[in-house]
This record gives sequence, structure tokens and C-alpha cells, in this order.
Amino acid sequence: MPPSAATPTAHSTPVSPVSPVSLVTGATRGIGREVSRQLADRGHTVLLTGRDPDAARRVAEELRAEAGTADVHPLPLDVTDDRSVARAAAEVTEAFGRLDVLINNAAITYDTWQRAVTADLTVVREAAETNLYGPWRMAIAFAPLLRASAHPRLVNVSSEAASLTNMGGGTPAYSASKTALNALTRMLAAELRPDGVLVNAVCPGWAATDMGGPGGRPVAAGAASVLSAATLPDDGPTGGFFRDGRPLPW
Ligand code: NDP
Repeated sequence: MPPSAATPTAHSTPVSPVSPVSLVTGATRGIGREVSRQLADRGHTVLLTGRDPDAARRVAEELRAEAGTADVHPLPLDVTDDRSVARAAAEVTEAFGRLDVLINNAAITYDTWQRAVTADLTVVREAAETNLYGPWRMAIAFAPLLRASAHPRLVNVSSEAASLTNMGGGTPAYSASKTALNALTRMLAAELRPDGVLVNAVCPGWAATDMGGPGGRPVAAGAASVLSAATLPDDGPTGGFFRDGRPLPW
């Protein structure tokens, strides 16, 4: 068992499991929780992260039972907090010495109540802190661990609301933050290509979560869309924008 990920002080021996080591942000509920479950089902070692350490512990325990594996490990991680991200990266370094899959899933503020022309810019900035700077902070902190993997993948969970081609008015904080996340995806893909890191943006589709509300497709379908980019073969695409494995317009 990966020592320090779950019990930081219990062990200090780095472990290098053969199974892919995957980290999911915002995994305590919604799509992140289900992505973690599906990765565990596929035999990944899953680092289930959340900003509430108790929730991460509880959900990791639930998934260990649901997926019938011991390989789901809670790790406290708030993507808006430099020190929290640095601490998590240090723990993964100590426990595994590499990261195979990073899934930037955590996001906030689907601001259906706002219009761009009257938007509260405090809300816009807060959304960017989680939805753009969060994944960016994670990419910076975990790039060395991804480079240490033989088959590294980075997935930014985006949204079709980010598509400039189809963009209209509404949800300004959310849409602008996700469009910028797509731009980050392109830059990271280009810069990490020489290291073999496949970096893609994925829309999970409208899914019935706290953020998506009722009426969306099952969370399992949204998570499966994310998994398609997390489990690409080495000759798979990089720098793309996909839903269910099919390209979306930027
Ligand atoms: P939810 O609102 O259901 O869950 C969001 C998760 O992100 C929660 O676990 C939340 O943790 C976590 N989170 C929020 N802020 C932080 C933070 N600072 N640090 C760490 N974790 C944080 O969202 P969904 O599951 O619906 O969405 C998952 C992803 O899919 C998002 O990127 C979203 O934009 C995208 N998406 C969703 C769609 C949908 O229809 N649901 C459609 C298109 C895209 P906590 O419990 O602590 O708040």
C-alpha cells in the first residue's frame, strides 16, 4: 500500500506499483468520485483527493468497498492552495516517485444567474482561481512526476461551454475560466509533448451531479468520457478537446 499518501507518517519507503498511479482532483462527489471508481475498477492505484480531508477519507473507504480493491487512497488537496498542492506533490513523490495520470476535475461556479454585461467580477475571479489557476498550479507541481512516468496522461475536465465556436451569452465566470483552461491545455500539450505526456481537454457532457443538476445523463457516462482521455494508448492524441472520445470544436 502506498504509504504516505494515506498515512503520511506511517511509512517512508517509496513504492512503485506496476498499476498506473492516478490522481483525481475534486473526487469527493460527482464526476470526480465516479472517475475514481472507474479507474479503480480498471486496476489503477487511485489517489482520491478532496479539499475536505474527512470527505476524502470517507469516499476512499466507500470506493474501496464498491470497487473491491484496496488501492484507493485519500489525499487532502485544495487546488487553490499552493501549500496544499505542494504537500500533495511531495507525498506522491515520496510514496511513488511518479504520477501516470493527472485528472484536473475540480471546478466551481456554473453561474447561470449571471450575464457577462453585468457580471460580478469577484465571482469571475473566484471561478478562475479554481477552474483555471487550480489545474495550472497542479500541472506545474506535478509535471516532474508525470515526466517520471512511462505513459503519462494529463486530463483537464472542461466543458462544451468553453467552445468559442458555439459561445453565446451567459455563465460568464464558468465559460471564460473553461475557455482559458482549454488554452492552457494547448500550451501544456505542446510543452510536454517531448516528454511523452498526452494532454487533452474533455467535456463529460451534461451529467446529473450537484453542478449539472437533475436531467443530465448518468454520472457514469460523464466519467467514462473523462476516462477515454486518461487511458489513451501511447500513440493517442494530445492537445485535443473531446467528448466521449470524439473531437469537439474549440
Ligand atoms: P460537482 O460540483 O458535483 O463537484 C465538484 C467537485 O470539485 C467537488 O468534489 C468539490 O469538492 C471539488 N472542488 C471544488 N473546489 C475545489 C478546490 N478548491 N479544491 C479541490 N476540490 C474542489 O461538479 P461535477 O462533478 O458536475 O463536475 C466535475 C467537472 O466536470 C468540473 O470540471 C465541471 O466543470 C465539469 N463539467 C460538468 C458538467 C456537468 O453537467 N456536471 C458538464 C460539463 C463539465 P467539495 O465537495 O469540497 O465542494
